[in-house]
This record gives sequence, C-alpha cells and structure tokens, in this order.
Amino acid sequence: MKEYKNFINGKFVDSKSGRTFENRNPANWDELIGIFPKSNAEDLNMAVEAAKKAYTKWRSVPLPKKAEIMRRAAEIMIARKEEAARLMTREMGKIIKETRGDYQEGIDTALFAAGQGRRYFGYTVPSELPNKICFTRRDPLGVWGLITPWNFPVAIPSWKIFPCILSGNTAIIKPATDTPASAGELVQVLHEAGLPEGVLNIVYGGGGEIGEAMLSHPDIVGISFTGSSDIGRRIGEVCGKTLKRCSLELGGKNGQVVLADANLELALDGVVWGAFGTTGQRCTATSRLILEEPIYDKFIEMLKARVEKLKLGNGLDETVDVGPLVNKAQRDTVAMYVEIGKKEGAKLLTGGEPYTEGECAKGWFYKPTVFIDVLPTMRIAQEEIFGPVLSVIKAKDFEEAIKILNGTTYGLSSSIYTNDLNKAQKAIELAETGIVYINAPTIGAECHLPFGGMKNTGNGHREGGWTAYEIFTEVKTVYIDYSGTLQRAQIDTWNE
Ligand code: NAD
Ligand code: MN
Repeated sequence: MKEYKNFINGKFVDSKSGRTFENRNPANWDELIGIFPKSNAEDLNMAVEAAKKAYTKWRSVPLPKKAEIMRRAAEIMIARKEEAARLMTREMGKIIKETRGDYQEGIDTALFAAGQGRRYFGYTVPSELPNKICFTRRDPLGVWGLITPWNFPVAIPSWKIFPCILSGNTAIIKPATDTPASAGELVQVLHEAGLPEGVLNIVYGGGGEIGEAMLSHPDIVGISFTGSSDIGRRIGEVCGKTLKRCSLELGGKNGQVVLADANLELALDGVVWGAFGTTGQRCTATSRLILEEPIYDKFIEMLKARVEKLKLGNGLDETVDVGPLVNKAQRDTVAMYVEIGKKEGAKLLTGGEPYTEGECAKGWFYKPTVFIDVLPTMRIAQEEIFGPVLSVIKAKDFEEAIKILNGTTYGLSSSIYTNDLNKAQKAIELAETGIVYINAPTIGAECHLPFGGMKNTGNGHREGGWTAYEIFTEVKTVYIDYSGTLQRAQIDTWNE
C-alpha cells in the first residue's frame, strides 16, 4: 500500500483538503492499493499557477530538445513495463497481457512524440503575389486540463500528455479515481526523464469537484477529455460558454458484421476478443454482433461453445482470459442491462449472472454474456453497457447489415468480416464510424493513427498520430512580403 500525493510544480505535495480516497483491486476488494488525496479547488489553483509560470519558458524550448525528454521517458517506461503492468492489473482488473499492451501503447506514444519533435511540419505554399511567401506553423495554447477514464490507465493519459506537452503546452491531469496509481507513476516517469517543474502536474480527485473546477478555470485554455457521452456533453456545454477548446472522446456501441462468405473461425476469434477483452470495458468493445442470415444459427453455436470456455479470474494469472469489472457500480450496471435485455424479449444464450467461484467471490466478476435474437431497436442494442455483454442481431443481407451497423447514436469503431472485396470496400465507404476494420475485431488501434469517432462519440477531434497534435495547437498563418512595396492581395496582379 502506498500513499500518493499530488504532484505540483515538480514536488509531491499534500492536498489542502486533508481528505483522501482509496484505490482497491476489483479482483479482490480486500486489497488496498493506495490512498490518494481528494483534492479541492485550492489544490487545482496551485497547479494552474505552476503550469502558467512554467509555460512562458517551456513553450520556447526547441522541439527537438523537448523530444529528448519524451525519448528518455520512453526508455524509463521500457525498463519499468512489467512492474507497471502488474500495478495496472491490480488497480483495474484487466488481464496482464492487456495491461502490458496498455503500457506498450504509452511507450509507443512517447517514442512517436520523440520523433515528432524533429518533424513538426507546417505547410509552405505559394503566394498569389511575387516576392512573397506564405507558410503555417503550429503554436501551443497554454495550460490544459486533461481528464481521463479508468479503462486505459496509462495509454489514454499518454495519448494526451505527450502531444500536449511536446507541443509546448503545460498541463494538469486529473485521472479517474478508479485508476489513479498508474497515472501517478506515469507523471513520475516524466519527472525522472527531466521534465521541468510545473510543465506537468497531477491533481487527484473526483470529477464533480476537480473536473468541474478545471472546466470553469479561467486560466485553463483547453480540456482534453475521454469518458462517457453524458459527461462529455456537460463538458462541451461548460467549455462552450467561455469558448474554451475541448476535445471529447466518448462512448461507443460498436458492431461486428459477419457476412455469409466470411471465414467463420476468424470471425469467431475476432468477436470473442472484441467483446470480452478488457471485460468489455473498452470504448471500442464489440457490443453488437450482426450476422447474415445464412450463417446465423451455425455461428451462434460456435460462439456459445467458445464463450463458455473463457476462464475468469485474477488478471495476474497468465491463464485467465477475463478479469473483473472495475467496481461494484459497473457490475450492477451490467446486471441491470441483462434484466432489461430479458424484459425486452432477447434470448439469453449464455452468462447472465455474476461469477463468484472461489477467490472470485471477493471481486466484481460477471460471466461473459451473450443475448441472441436481439432487435436493433432494443436498449441492449442501442446503449453502451461497458461490460461483458454481447447482443447478436440477425440481418437478411449486406444492405440490412450495414443499416443495423449504422443504426445507433454512436460512431467509434466497426468491423466487417467478408472475403468479398466489393462488399468490404462498400462497407468502408458506408460505415458511420471513425475507425473501420476489415477481417479484424473492433478493438486494436495503433498509436500512430488517428483515433476517434463520429456522431455522439465525440466532437470531431482525433487523438493518436499526427492528428493529436492538431488538438493541442493553434495554426498560425504567416505571410512574408519581400517586395519592398505594398502588394494588395486580390487587387494587384503580378504583371502590373
Ligand atoms: P466518466 O465519464 O464517468 O469519467 C471520465 C472522467 O471524467 C473521470 O476522470 C471522471 O472523474 C471525470 N468526470 C466525471 N464527471 C465530471 C465532470 N462533471 N466534469 C469534469 N470531469 C468529470 O467515464 P468512465 O466511467 O471513467 O469511463 C468509461 C467511459 O469512457 C465509457 O463511456 C467509454 O466509452 C469512454 N471511453 C471513451 C474512449 C474514446 O477514446 N472514445 C476511450 C475510453 C473510454
Ligand atoms: Mn482501482
């Protein structure tokens, strides 16, 4: 058990509030992982002051020099990967294979930032007029508030921290209260890598308190948020009032389509991983399986057999496939949706109850659950459950499958299994999602590509890759006239 402190202006400091909260292991609720400060607005103000002060210097540090710190951070992370993955599994429950992947994504994002420092391109374009050049550059905005969820305790903070600070901004991160330790260790890594004081600060606490205080803080210029659509809507509203920039990465209700011509074994591997990986607690989790009629019965039989073989347990055990839900509330939500599904008339194929065998009784486990004969209009086919529940829907043909795929308010990720090149291309064109997979599950984003969704999944930004840098910078357009005369755009021409 470790007692964590806020990290403000390069120092670990106690909260002014004197209050704390606990972080427990969802696979064994008796295990206390850490105690964290439940901070208040005064703590946030201190962090903002530190970040503001640091900004004036940090913004002017040459990008390749900033990038060296990112590279050192990556090196420290590589050395610490196993230890960090184990902490993450204890803190939020997902299996060790996946927390290693989560941490690897952080490493990759740090290395991408390290490279980006030497290839921070703008555009150079010709002018309408002679002896004049035009180009664009990207500049930082100032102090950012970074608000993160618990399901990717390192990857998501990394997606925000590295592009935000490489760009010359400074930041305060407020991680989810279910996974504060992993974010804290990441901030520690950057500190050890030589990040100047005040550039990155962490303030622990609740969304209603620290999160809200960030939204309305006059010296915070932007909010980068990943979380639920409900909170995202609230953040957009508050930020809109002061025209604060905000990027919102929100929920999903992702579908996997399997057409009759597909490789069914491959599609089965995909849906089991997509639906039950991270215990279904991914924004990109497969929560709808859309099967073309001719293979419906056969695929369901294959699915049932495979899902019932999944092994539940503590994610530190390498043989376990599925860990617990992150907390009791999340498991209660899953149980509630299972009841809703039954009432709506969907047929429970397997699962549908908590799992309490042996040691699992101490945690928030729930059996991998599949509903069949689900109608696209049912709530279990429309609302994000964020747990190990898959809704199987029948489609009579390709056109209907795409219609069902697009028939939700979300638009994050979609997957189509087919060997028909024409149908695959058409699906790519028609899918109303920010990410499309062909013959691969709805999960599995790579850090150097844009990540984000359409419709209620966000507000048009893309994290990941080069597009993350667009979130955290302003474009500056520069005209340099070396003609020595007044040249008027649209009025003067080159031959006059
Ligand atoms: P959440 O919305 O409950 O919380 C996310 C963060 O917001 C937490 O740090 C929380 O403390 C904070 N918060 C809560 N209320 C706030 C407020 N009023 N003002 C400011 N901040 C506030 O989400 P969660 O349960 O932590 O995460 C699960 C959700 O995140 C799911 O909906 C999932 O789809 C989504 N998610 C989206 C992506 C993506 O990139 N699209 C990735 C992962 C998770
Ligand atoms: Mn926890």
